Amino acid sequence: MTIFYRLDGASPSFSDCSLDVLRKTQGVGRAVLYVNITNSCPCDCIFCIRKLADGMNPNESLWLEREPTVAEIKAAFEARGDLRQIGEIVFCGYGEPMMRANDVIELARYFKSVTSIPMGTNANGVERLSSPIPIRINTNGLVRLVAPDFCMESLRAVDCVSVSLNADNADEYMRVTRPRVGGAARQQCPYEEMLAFARDAKEYTRVVFSVVGEVLSREQVERCREVAEGVGVGLRVR
Ligand code: SF4
Repeated sequence: MTIFYRLDGASPSFSDCSLDVLRKTQGVGRAVLYVNITNSCPCDCIFCIRKLADGMNPNESLWLEREPTVAEIKAAFEARGDLRQIGEIVFCGYGEPMMRANDVIELARYFKSVTSIPMGTNANGVERLSSPIPIRINTNGLVRLVAPDFCMESLRAVDCVSVSLNADNADEYMRVTRPRVGGAARQQCPYEEMLAFARDAKEYTRVVFSVVGEVLSREQVERCREVAEGVGVGLRVR
């Protein structure tokens, strides 16, 4: 069961190599650790990579036989080795990580707690700790249509939330993401809710919208940029 993985397709995969091996194969000091905790997703995007492949690496399926428990994820994390080799932790499963929103928040707090590494004592004998590893959630921003009681303030546990914008208007958004949640009323419209989620989330953490540049025209990207400006967040074109 692959809980942790890398995006670059290099082998060996993160799931079966220690961080020491990873450091040598990457040739750099710090790796991005992706966290895969669910297959579940409320959307059926026409461009979803899950329709094309079982994972990011040819020999590594990211489909989970079952959802790992929080305890199993913590144990797998602790088995990674030297935490100083991790530059960022990203919840970006083969499904939508916020389908397990409360577990994501619990794990984020846990990752923060165990990644403050003792750095010895200073001249005054005071124990120094490194900064906790930055944590990001990649999400479709529809968590409140799935879990209306989700506590937005709990997003303080992470450093960044990257929300898939996908389109500059509701009709196009519905066409490409095909959500199975929400409804026709404006307050239930998935596109409006995704924008509202980003607007509310930025009260508690850094938020960026992301779009895939390859599937949008230059004009569409510019309109997405205007949408992002209207919400008050940045736009990342992948
Ligand atoms: S939200 Fe992500 S995981 Fe879900 S269908 Fe769309 S691309 Fe796939």
